[in-house]
Amino acid sequence: MVFVVLSDAKYTVTSKATIIRSQKFWMWWRNLIHRDKETSYTFLMTIYETIKTFDNFPCSHRQWRHGGHCKFIHGYSRSFKLTFGCHNLTESGFGVDFGNFAEIKSWLSHWFDHTTLINEDDPEIEMFRSLHDRQIIDLRVMPNVSMERTSEFIFEYVDRWIREHTNDRAFLVEVECRENDKNAAIFRP
Ligand SMILES: [Zn+2]
Repeated sequence: MVFVVLSDAKYTVTSKATIIRSQKFWMWWRNLIHRDKETSYTFLMTIYETIKTFDNFPCSHRQWRHGGHCKFIHGYSRSFKLTFGCHNLTESGFGVDFGNFAEIKSWLSHWFDHTTLINEDDPEIEMFRSLHDRQIIDLRVMPNVSMERTSEFIFEYVDRWIREHTNDRAFLVEVECRENDKNAAIFRP
């Protein structure tokens, strides 16, 4: 894929043909560099993608706003697929080193292993808190428990984590959150 990313102006050109044929593009590009030398850019850079999956986290949730049966507490075995990206590999030729991933695994376990998830605006939140205090459920309150919003929730934590642990060499490309064989959602910013 051929692409252009400008940090301050989000232009993206995905077609090689467009770039090569377009005189206007090259004039625009030259002007831009001439005009603003501070603009940081990435041009024709390879992205290596590395995928790590974490499977089978048993948890329950409910969507209190849902008109159908999703308003009832129900359970799934959630799985997460994290796609990492980088432009430069480690000395060993890795995109990311899975040897250091215990921290991510335990963060995911904290949130999704034998827990009950509810939305932060759930009107029954006090009742859930009291069940938690009585050790009947292990409550976790999220912005929203949907697969889409869970993917976004995980993305925010893991992207920050991987950037910190690799001095910004690696980053997160997308998170796929799966509740069963049939249903999954992806967050890709
Ligand atoms: Zn449901």
